[in-house]
Amino acid sequence: MVRVRFAPSPTGYVHVGSLRTALYCYLFAHHNEGKYVLRIEDTDQSRLVEDAVENLLREMEWTGVIHDEGPSHLNGEVRDVGDYGPYTQSERLDIYQGYIRQLVEEDKAYPCFCSKERLDELRASGQHGYDGHCRNLDKEEVNKRIAAGEAHVIRMKMPRDEELVFDDLVRGRISMNSDDSDDQVIQKSDGFPTYHLAVVVDDHLMEISHVIRGEEWLSSVPKHLVLYDYFGWERPLYAHLPNILNSERKKLSKREGDVSVSDFREKGYLPEALVNFLALVGWNPGDEREIMTMEEMIQSFSFDRVSRSGGVFDLGKLNYMNNHYIRVADNERLYDLLDQEKLVGTDKAHVLEIIELVKERVDRVPELLDYIDGFYREELVLDDEARASVEDYMLPLLDFFASEIEKIEVFDKDSVQAAIKATQKEMNVKGKKLYMPLRIGINGSPHGADLVTSIVLMGKDMVLKRLSQVGEVL
Ligand code: GLU
Repeated sequence: MVRVRFAPSPTGYVHVGSLRTALYCYLFAHHNEGKYVLRIEDTDQSRLVEDAVENLLREMEWTGVIHDEGPSHLNGEVRDVGDYGPYTQSERLDIYQGYIRQLVEEDKAYPCFCSKERLDELRASGQHGYDGHCRNLDKEEVNKRIAAGEAHVIRMKMPRDEELVFDDLVRGRISMNSDDSDDQVIQKSDGFPTYHLAVVVDDHLMEISHVIRGEEWLSSVPKHLVLYDYFGWERPLYAHLPNILNSERKKLSKREGDVSVSDFREKGYLPEALVNFLALVGWNPGDEREIMTMEEMIQSFSFDRVSRSGGVFDLGKLNYMNNHYIRVADNERLYDLLDQEKLVGTDKAHVLEIIELVKERVDRVPELLDYIDGFYREELVLDDEARASVEDYMLPLLDFFASEIEKIEVFDKDSVQAAIKATQKEMNVKGKKLYMPLRIGINGSPHGADLVTSIVLMGKDMVLKRLSQVGEVL
């Protein structure tokens, strides 16, 4: 049975790289009819953030990358779902303690009393990692120092000069020498386990078959393999995912702008666009497809086509995908996503029609507001391009058009079309020379959605109000 886990530390926000890891876990689990588990790794008490788990759950719910097991929202509360809990590491401390004790008893781990000052000096002297100072202390002395309450951590004993080999599903066979890892701390002086111990114990007890995570964890694998061997447990399979890179091919970092799921949500990206886009940063379905439903991605997903090198986060491509998903989205849904305060004084049915007309033109949902405003704002304001395009013939053309509009009794596509036709005849212009001034006189811009539909949606009064200003503005 395939069982995978996404194991974030609750930092208060979800990085898009983490979302992609979660997504690959989800796709792989579903592809193999397995289970996708969420585990909260909160053993680093110094990094705890209030409401971080709540935020995490909310963000993940928004993305649709939903776990089968782990902390979940149930009747307004966060509760564990699944038979392998608790799924939050801070609730599993006694479990870790038993395993740490076992390692110490079996001489596979040892208490270390080295002070922070000593370790700082060691580092300053150029020593790479811990030097094993407490590795072979006399047992009696150790017991005495512990009994006296001396502060200490527990370190695992790395075997000396052993080749540790494993097959990574993305990177193939990897071999590392145990001497390149020092004796890792597995229990801190506050009694909390470290990530390295907790991750191995939990992955084993939760029967995780595949460990899928970012490549920054690759160098930790030797320590983990040794722990599996020490406990006599079967090792999981590993898949280390390439980093997400920015346009300069550097790791996407918080300092350089939007990186969290909520950043993208707030900017008006739809979850299905973000998810579809992220799936393709570092993976491809083996053909030319780009727009894919979750179901299609599940069917096509495999680690064979996850690239070893980093995938580039191409904002242009995300915008293109978001535009696609906005075009196919339900208008009511788009309406509900808009800042409702900005819609005060508008008519919902009318706004829905405007959304239908203009949605193909926007990359992000809030951009719809500019278009909606364009139908409600009485003032005619020319944009730069319009101003640069003004010519002498336009004013009389627009005056004539206004008089034609004035005459209309039933304001619909046909009558508006007829008014445009009459203007064309009277002024003897067609094509761009006809449409450009009409657009400028009505919208203040030479570009826009379908002209006739726009005019009808704007309504006779508003069109006339706009046209009445052309004398001053043009
Ligand atoms: N808690 C680790 C993180 O925050 C998880 C690493 C792993 O998946 O093993 O990324």
